[in-house]
Amino acid sequence: MVNQDTSVSRETTVGSTPSNPSPEFHDTPIAAAAARASQVLTPGGAGELPRPQSTRVLTVANQKGGVGKTTTAVNLAAGLALHGLGVLVIDLDPQGNASTALGIDHRVPGIASVYELLLGEVRLADAIQNSPANDRLLCVPATLDLAGAEIELVSLVARENRLRNALDEQTLKDLGIDYVLIDCPPSLGLLTVNAMVAAKEVLIPIQCEYYALEGVGQLLRNIELVQAHLNPGLHVSTVVLTMYDGRTKLADQVAEEVRRHFGDKVLTTIIPRSVKVSEAPGYGMTIIEYDPGSRGAMSYLDAARELAMRAVQQ
Ligand code: ADP
Ligand code: MG
Repeated sequence: MVNQDTSVSRETTVGSTPSNPSPEFHDTPIAAAAARASQVLTPGGAGELPRPQSTRVLTVANQKGGVGKTTTAVNLAAGLALHGLGVLVIDLDPQGNASTALGIDHRVPGIASVYELLLGEVRLADAIQNSPANDRLLCVPATLDLAGAEIELVSLVARENRLRNALDEQTLKDLGIDYVLIDCPPSLGLLTVNAMVAAKEVLIPIQCEYYALEGVGQLLRNIELVQAHLNPGLHVSTVVLTMYDGRTKLADQVAEEVRRHFGDKVLTTIIPRSVKVSEAPGYGMTIIEYDPGSRGAMSYLDAARELAMRAVQQ
């Protein structure tokens, strides 16, 4: 029963947003979802969000694989873009999953990617591609070449600062980029260090599963090291709970434990486990494109609003 209640209250949180019309007109779930979808997709239907004073650069990190880093980076980015903000996703994982989910073919031979950007062979503007999902949604894709970068970077000068140096402010400004989200690989190697040096904020996705906090201590220690030696402004600003399954007691226990640990850094919005969310990248789409009326889309839209509003309130 307790679990049922939790999922109902999550729905209520979702339901309180402007993109979710009042339920009395849409008395079946499908009709309600269709109504939400059409509202979300109407230009300006999602509402506008305030632009941050300067570009916010967030690193999405957790050295555990499969916790929802890529899914969160891509769908938060899509959520922010839908609200009128300019967003750049930097795919820093050789797997290129973020690039795929944003509908960018990263297997084209010879494309300019984050690898060439890190090596200083191309400029930021030349490595950026537009996602078909939204004209305000941009991406620097990753190719398999990036798998070698971890080693190649070791011998380069300023090896920890390559990404920061590549993110030139004028280009970000010219392209109207309000948010940069960096999708990290599942390790704490040089690529992740580059992401942490380039960003001011760390966003940690935590899966509502067994051993959720495993490895988070190590991640926090690494963040402290980067802070002490390379980037004094770096801090954990946001924690997102992902793949929440309201049917299990465990998910609630994990959520509680994470909130005890991270306090108000944890977004109120929890991302539910949903098959739709996992299907979307297979079609080269974000969840907002793939099924805009779904719970997964609504939750990422809510999370995007929270992320943007918190910056303004702080
Ligand atoms: P990471 O980038 O941390 O390795 P991913 O974002 O790739 O994690 O997610 C791992 C797997 O879980 C992927 O197959 C993804 O589609 C799936 N997934 C992520 N979020 C959800 C969700 N909310 N509901 C269901 N599946 C999800
Ligand atoms: Mg990933």
